[in-house]
This record gives sequence, structure tokens and C-alpha cells, in this order.
Amino acid sequence: MHRREFLAAAAAGIALTEADAEPVRTEPLANPNWGPLYYDDKEQTQLEEVLASRRPFRFSPPPDQSKVAIFENEWASRMQTRWALAVTSGTAALHCSLAALEIGPGDEVILPAWTWYSNYSTIIQAGALPVFAEIDDSFNIDPSGIERHITPQTRAIMAVHLQGNPADLDPILAIARKHNLKVIEDCSQSVGASYKGKPLGCIGDIGAYSLQQTKTITAGEGGAVVTSDPALFERAVRFHDVTVRRDFPAKLAYMPGLNYRMNEFSGGVLLAQLRKLDTIVAAVRRNARRVYDGVRDLPGIRLRRLPDPEGELGTGVFLGFATKEQRDRFIGAMKAEGVPASPPAGSIILPIVPQIENKVTVTPRWPSFAGERGRSIRYGRECCPRTIDILSRYAGVMIGPKYTRRDTDDAVAAVRKVYPTIVNA
Ligand SMILES: *Cc1c(COP(=O)(O)O)cnc(C)c1O
Repeated sequence: MHRREFLAAAAAGIALTEADAEPVRTEPLANPNWGPLYYDDKEQTQLEEVLASRRPFRFSPPPDQSKVAIFENEWASRMQTRWALAVTSGTAALHCSLAALEIGPGDEVILPAWTWYSNYSTIIQAGALPVFAEIDDSFNIDPSGIERHITPQTRAIMAVHLQGNPADLDPILAIARKHNLKVIEDCSQSVGASYKGKPLGCIGDIGAYSLQQTKTITAGEGGAVVTSDPALFERAVRFHDVTVRRDFPAKLAYMPGLNYRMNEFSGGVLLAQLRKLDTIVAAVRRNARRVYDGVRDLPGIRLRRLPDPEGELGTGVFLGFATKEQRDRFIGAMKAEGVPASPPAGSIILPIVPQIENKVTVTPRWPSFAGERGRSIRYGRECCPRTIDILSRYAGVMIGPKYTRRDTDDAVAAVRKVYPTIVNA
């Protein structure tokens, strides 16, 4: 505990003992990227097999031997969809999803004001117009704020499941149905999580995942698209492979695609990682629950809203404060205890990024902002005051799958020691 917090606690009449002056931990609690923590001889064997085969291109081996194809089959089965497509990144997965849905110039896509750049950039790359909606205390898009952004040009909602927490899909799907919109689930930050018993990605029209190093499982880079709609799947496949459809006859018309194909090295590593996904998810969830259960009874405690606590990954246990000033003092005091707490992270408040506010594109003639609506739409602070406010008032202890009992006990001890000194000071 910092001297300042100690004095504040003393002034607030909170009983302090000798032990309170000592930090909970001397070695700060650290949370390395999860996937690589689980690398072992399984990933190694996969890589060696690709080397020995001398067939690193996914379409060199027959489909029943291609590691990428096997990965796709197992991914579709884990995510309970008819198909999965492996791609090079989460950004590529989103780009393929938009192309599959035939979203382009003149169309509008609603996305949360707090998310990763890729959501915005892929809508722009499709030539469509990104329309930001506010988040709520789940840090995900607020379903009750979506409808006011719907226009006759709106085609889709990007439901992004941020920092391990599923977006509240039931009301989002109801709005989508009512207005005939598509739902793209971006599960990049919640790979392996679920909503009301269903794996994230299989609930909307199409799902995108990132398998980059900071996500649940990884080959450094990687991504996947899932859908159960045959037309969407065919279009995603063709778009990811320069229009070609290599392993079943094309039914749909030609479309100029890019190259987002996964290679066999990545496919092998991701296959090994996928087979560990449930182990990793169970470990993170168990550790998060220990921390939730250890702090839940603190008087006045406000936890991040979880639309489905059972389905959440448990990436972090976030506490809400009345003011940013209190939140920042909490972060300072937790650091002193050796249990770092951080603000919501891994995303950006996009509308206030200067280049986004100024609608910077590859060329000023870009279709997204060329029309009447694109010219008149305003980004910046005025389009997301609530998002800015909510994110300034939360901080969380990040949870790792390899945390020991002692680690989670320390996290609980630090929160229990620090939180009352902040909210009662
Ligand atoms: C990481 C991430 C992406 C992009 O994934 P890459 O694999 O880095 O391209 C997209 N959306 C969200 C929400 C992400 O967190």
C-alpha cells in the first residue's frame, strides 16, 4: 500500500495492521500470452511433419492430409458451424466476412466505438461506411443504442466480443431480424467463449476469429471464418483465394478476391493449439471465478456487466468506480501491491483517433466518405461520450490460465486490501 493510500485508509477509520504496510507480492503478478505457454511437442511434431513433407502450401497435400484442412474441420466442429475457413489473420477474416455478405460502397455497418482498428479498416476497405455505436458496462456494443443508427443503407452489425466477454447477442439479433440486417460476430478477443451455451461465432450470420499471439491460441498470426450458410461460405472461400474455388465446384459468379490463404506450418501449429483450446479456456475460467468469488462480497463493489457469466472467458476481472480519479488511484495502489490492474485494453476508442475523426483514406476519393451520408457523418468525441466515460472508470486484474492458487489468492487479497481504501476514502 502506498503511503498516500495508507493515510487515506487511516483517515477513513479503516483498521490497519503491520501486515497492511507490506505489499501482497514482491514479484509482480505477470500474465504472458496464453497460447505460447502451452507450446510443447505437439506443435513441434506438427512443424516437423510439414518440413519433412516438403509441402507447406495448403493445396499441395490431398485435403485429408492438409493440416489447414484438418484444422478447418475441427474448428467448424468446435464452433458448431457447417464450415470454417482458415485465413492469415483476424483482419483477413473480417475482410472475407464483409465480402461474403456483399457489403460495399453505399452500405453502412454499425460497430462499437471501442474496438480494434481492424473492424473499422475492413469496413473502409470494403468501401462501406462505418457507423459507431456506444458501448455499455460490458465494454461491448450497447444493444439499446443500436437502433438510432439504423438507416435504409445499414446492412450489418459487427458484434464484437471484447476482452473475453460475449456481446449480448439476443437483443442484437432481435434488432437485426427486425431491420433485416446481417450480424458479423468478431470473436477475436474471446476465442473459445460462448453465449448461452453456444460457441461464439456460430450465432450470427458469419463469425471471425484472430489467432494472433495475444489471443487465446496462436501461431503468431492466423485467423478463421465460420458460417453455416453455403453461399456465404463459398464467397468467403473465393475471396480468400484470388477467386478460385479449389476443392469444390463454384456455383456463384466470379468475384475478384485476394490471397489470405493459411500455410501448412500455421495450420499444424493451430491444429495442435485448437486441441488444447478447451483446456486453456477451462483454466482461465477457473482462475477468473476464484477472483470473482473472492471479491464479490466487498461492500459497494461494481463488476463489469457480463451478459452470460457462464460463457465469459475470464480474461480480466474488472471493477467499476464512480470517477476516473478513483480508478486511477486503484491502479496505482494495486501496482504497489504487486498485482497490476489495468484499464480496459486491447482496443481503441476509434472515433477519437485523429485520422479516423478526419476520415483519412487511401485516397481522398474513397467511396466510404464520398456520398452525401459519408460527407455528413461526424466522428469524434461527440459520437461516443458514454464510451469514453465508461472506459475511464474501470480497471481490472488480468487473469492467466497458468495462474496458481497462490496467484489468484494474491489477486483477491490485493483487491480486498485496496478497494475499500479507494471507495471509502
Ligand atoms: C486482434 C483483433 C482483430 C484483428 O486480428 P489480427 O489477427 O491481428 O488481424 C480484429 N478484431 C479484434 C476485436 C481484435 O482484437
